[in-house]
Amino acid sequence: MRKITADFIYPISSKPIKNGVIVIDDNRNILDVLSSTEELQDIEKHEGIICPGFVNTHCHLELSHMKGVVTEDKGLVEFIKELMSQRESEPDFVQQCIANAETEMIANGIVAVGDISNGSDTFAQKAKGNLYYHTFIELYGFMGEQADESFEKGLALSLKLKEKSLKFSLVPHSPYSASRPLWEKIVEWNADNNGIISFHNQETEDENRLFLEGKGSLIGLMQWFGLDTSFWKPTGKTSLNSIKDTLPKGVKTLLVHNTMTTAEELLSLNLKLSSLYWCLCPNANWYIERKLPDINIFLETDSKITLGTDSFSSNWGLSILSEMQRIKEYYPKVSTEKLLQWGTLNGAELLGIESKFGSIEKGKSPGLNLISDVKNGEITEKSTQTKIV
Ligand SMILES: [Zn+2]
Repeated sequence: MRKITADFIYPISSKPIKNGVIVIDDNRNILDVLSSTEELQDIEKHEGIICPGFVNTHCHLELSHMKGVVTEDKGLVEFIKELMSQRESEPDFVQQCIANAETEMIANGIVAVGDISNGSDTFAQKAKGNLYYHTFIELYGFMGEQADESFEKGLALSLKLKEKSLKFSLVPHSPYSASRPLWEKIVEWNADNNGIISFHNQETEDENRLFLEGKGSLIGLMQWFGLDTSFWKPTGKTSLNSIKDTLPKGVKTLLVHNTMTTAEELLSLNLKLSSLYWCLCPNANWYIERKLPDINIFLETDSKITLGTDSFSSNWGLSILSEMQRIKEYYPKVSTEKLLQWGTLNGAELLGIESKFGSIEKGKSPGLNLISDVKNGEITEKSTQTKIV
């Protein structure tokens, strides 16, 4: 048994406790959360904040071998072109990088990951059970006639995960890269299988332009892939407004990036869907476009936020604390309490693992992170993190 205290305990499910105490058993289960150290002996005392293990809701572990490969600040389309042309690598090297990336996430206090997979490269590592994974099997196909083939490929991948008893759902890459027939198949699959939908949303201005006017760099990207774009009919609406009526009410849905999403779009979708989550990956946005979403509108519309690291192809590290620090840098008024909720409990709820992860409560075993070098109980750019449980 361990009794652990710090200047502030952030249970997340309840208000922060100054000098609170967490009691855990030898299996790292929380036995109790106390408000004072009085009458307790053998207490482990730390300076800073203790919070639950982090939940990373957007990663591409299979791209871990691309660290430092893609040029920064070139915009999304150039990013995708560089990524696709340099993605192939030696299988042993890919596996080693996947294992190293997982080790880094564990050291950075991450306990659960929503991970995008286009192929099966990460499945063996995931099966080791070092971290909790929900794999989003990502499908794309710009042309309607590719829908069946793409969907069947996804189903075949899902069987490999099922064999290993790993959690998964089928998801579209984005509204522009999945045709309407493919999109509808995926949505239906999730509605029938209690799945979780996740897709890249409005990561760049030209995604909206493609839907509004049929113009911009994404049309060029499709042509670069050798696709015939002559059939494309703009909807006259933004990307999100073009697909929002297809999203089913009762299915958990995670929209990732949301760099160009407006307050009206947030409000109307929050009203329409009951289990809607917005994943922010500020470091990846910074890496690719030197741009961040307007976080104030997410706060004003009371949108449910989660955090993601994206992959090593678009980030310098895989650290949820570092994502929080990027937000703090540009939005200093966002409280540490909020940031921690985004990086823990909200993600756990999305992945359906909140009975074990996401908050410091009796009966859970969420992992514990110590955040040091805080100022008045708030995370700063100097804060560091240590996994203590
Ligand atoms: Zn991504």
